[in-house]
Amino acid sequence: MPVEKRHPIPVAEAIQRVMKQNIEMETTTMNIYECEGYILAEDIVATYDIPRFDKSPYDGFAVRSVDTVGASSDTRIPFEVVDHIGAGSVSAKQLEAGQAVRIMTGAEMPQGADAVVMLEQTVESANGFTIRKPFEPLENVSLKGEETSTGDVVLTKGQRINAGVVAVLATFGYVDVPVFQKPSVAIIATGSELVDIDAPLEPGKIRNSNGPMIYALLRKEGITGELYKIQQDDFDSSLAVVKKAFSEHDIVITTGGVSVGDFDYLPDIYRALNAEVLFNKVAMRPGSVTTVAVSEGKYLFGLSGNPSACYSGFELFVKPAMYHMMQAEKCFPSMVRATLMEDFKKANPFTRFIRANVVLTGRQATVRPSGFNKSGAVVSIAHSNAMIVLPGGTRGFERGHEVQVILTSSEAYQRESDL
Ligand code: AMP
Ligand code: MG
Repeated sequence: MPVEKRHPIPVAEAIQRVMKQNIEMETTTMNIYECEGYILAEDIVATYDIPRFDKSPYDGFAVRSVDTVGASSDTRIPFEVVDHIGAGSVSAKQLEAGQAVRIMTGAEMPQGADAVVMLEQTVESANGFTIRKPFEPLENVSLKGEETSTGDVVLTKGQRINAGVVAVLATFGYVDVPVFQKPSVAIIATGSELVDIDAPLEPGKIRNSNGPMIYALLRKEGITGELYKIQQDDFDSSLAVVKKAFSEHDIVITTGGVSVGDFDYLPDIYRALNAEVLFNKVAMRPGSVTTVAVSEGKYLFGLSGNPSACYSGFELFVKPAMYHMMQAEKCFPSMVRATLMEDFKKANPFTRFIRANVVLTGRQATVRPSGFNKSGAVVSIAHSNAMIVLPGGTRGFERGHEVQVILTSSEAYQRESDL
């Protein structure tokens, strides 16, 4: 049989084809304590002003600013304390000339008061205190609505829910939060050489590391993937399992078997499923054989079996597609420009993605490969927090060149605090 001819498309074009699909998750509600990491499905509008009432931002005394006019260190002005309130209490008093209410942070301003004297700005006297400086109207007062007014859109549909979003949702009384469902994902590792983690290694066999890696990558996005049994390089049984996974999940991720080798059956499986293949060759290394197909409103990701290629394929295509399905407004990883700390002299017609370590401390970002970087490499993934992007072309890259770097899902922690 002649080797199938495939036409590589640029990575950016491949990403566009993935993101152009009209595949959307349904909305649901999640309890506020469970909603972190989900994508908000509705705009959230302020149903009242924040702050809800004029309040004191300090522990001190609420006064009428007119009564403070002329205060100085020579002419201290005395106040009589007529009430004492903590946060959560409201004073029934209406302030008269020369009166003050002792007030704690967060308490509502009493009637008539329009300024707050901080405790440390007072000297205690017989039935109150004296001050040595005048206060402007509204000095030291947090005004009703100064942060947000009723009707303001405070959170937007498509926003990723983080702890701050949770705080806003709590502020407006959301117990159940409208979100997009997360896609359910099947993970199928294919390859007759693969054995499970706990199985003995026999000649010619390797452990399936891609399955657990994809599982972990999904967990990071708050998705518990379903791991299917490792598939031998056999068309019939693999087709049956992919079909089953496809009927049970929104996304099916396979690893291995997408190339043009004698036992690479994924292309035939896509054909048998009548799936629309968006591409099966991308001008990138590693993972040029990465294949993405859609069928019945679901995605099939055929990632290369090479661990580094598998990892890059997930970051470049699977993750953005998942957030696209959840209608997130931001689907792509952040990128930075960094100074390359190693030579890559050999030119490559395809765009290269190299698992790397970016150091963002200080003014200048630097980046270097995180280890041995052939596509079969696995250890370098473990030490990476980024991927270097080297555009394809006729020239190589040298130490000192500025390159683009994708920040990946690995941690961006550092050893020492820069504070
Ligand atoms: P393939 O994409 O099937 O051509 O596989 C490419 C390379 O990746 C081969 O060396 C495989 O042995 C290796 N490989 C395939 N699947 C896995 C896996 N699940 N875990 C680790 N290595 C794999
Ligand atoms: Mg294989």
